[in-house]
Amino acid sequence: MDKCKSCGSQAINPGKHGRDLTSDLDLCDVCAWRKRAEDFSNQTVEMGKLLDGYSSENEKLLKIVDGYAIQNAKLSKLVEEATEKIKSWTK
Ligand SMILES: [Zn+2]
Repeated sequence: MDKCKSCGSQAINPGKHGRDLTSDLDLCDVCAWRKRAEDFSNQTVEMGKLLDGYSSENEKLLKIVDGYAIQNAKLSKLVEEATEKIKSWTK
């Protein structure tokens, strides 16, 4: 019987304990799951990095949007002022 390359255990049971039959056949059940968990955690870290990237992009976009909003508010005020002026002319 094969031994786990990581811990030496002989508890290598592909297809049992939720293991599939194809991956990590040189690892025991415990180490195979641990590896899966580590892979998943690495993926989570990578996802986190990607999300950080997106959020800094997002912050840039938000600043641009804020800029537009400020300009828009200024324009609205100008339009209001102009409207008031026009009203006062027609009185
Ligand atoms: Zn092991």
